[in-house]
Amino acid sequence: MTQHRIALVTGSTSGIGLAIARALARDGMDVMLNGSRPEAEAEPMRAALAAQTGRRVLYRAADMRNPQEIRALVEHSRRELGSIDVLVNNAGIQHVEAIEHFSEERWDAILAINLSAAFHATKATFEAMKRKGWGRIINVASVHSLVASPYKAAYVAAKHGLLGLTRVVALEGAEHGVTCNAICPGYVLTPLVEKQIPDQARERGISEEAVVRDVLLAAQVTKEFVTVEQLGALAVFLASDAAAQITGAALPVDGGWTAR
Ligand code: NAD
Repeated sequence: MTQHRIALVTGSTSGIGLAIARALARDGMDVMLNGSRPEAEAEPMRAALAAQTGRRVLYRAADMRNPQEIRALVEHSRRELGSIDVLVNNAGIQHVEAIEHFSEERWDAILAINLSAAFHATKATFEAMKRKGWGRIINVASVHSLVASPYKAAYVAAKHGLLGLTRVVALEGAEHGVTCNAICPGYVLTPLVEKQIPDQARERGISEEAVVRDVLLAAQVTKEFVTVEQLGALAVFLASDAAAQITGAALPVDGGWTAR
């Protein structure tokens, strides 16, 4: 990295977001972490990341269901760290249930956190990036932006929508040095997936071992989970100047799932 950059990673107290934040900080960026937990709870994680990387690492709680809190998060990041050069829209939740039983509350929450939050955060950062003539927006989408699976109506709809948003942002940012791409992971063994295993077992009437073998890794041709470090490395590359001509892309990291 040649220039000093600042990143905001939503939903970065756990899993993929935390790994991306760590990778960006190791690459030399100052980082604003975010999650819904209160600051005191996130403090040990923030302090550890700052100590490991030697970068400025801050944390701000904001509920990604709330557009006002998202705007306040962006303003806080800008005020405390100077600017936002790299925005990673990562926060996400999942719910696994057949459509006829799918809770309306869960549908609304998934659409809000996995899709609308990316719009609100992009809207709040886009103009300044365009003015600066440099910016990177990285949406942590999913293989479910490209294909569907049963019992995931809200998630698949939100992630397909997120890819659509990615493409529009790419077109609007293209002549201003701002790229926007969607990372589309297959299964990564994070808390989000660990929680699904018993739910899938219940919906399908099979054991948890069978869920891992015959559901989660069934389509992943490598038969291996994607790792959070692999996604962190891709985010670092997308945030680099070398990736200036990659924009509007859906980048599968899915062990060959979508090759079929
Ligand atoms: P995770 O549960 O480990 O992390 C989710 C993060 O989002 C946490 O930091 C959590 O605090 C945050 N979050 C959730 N609700 C929030 C809210 N209302 N406000 C603020 N923050 C909130 O899950 P993960 O697997 O690391 O998922 C991260 C992203 O990766 C999600 O968008 C998910 O859809 C996507 N993804 C995950 C997988 C996978 O297999 N794990 C695959 C493809 C895509």
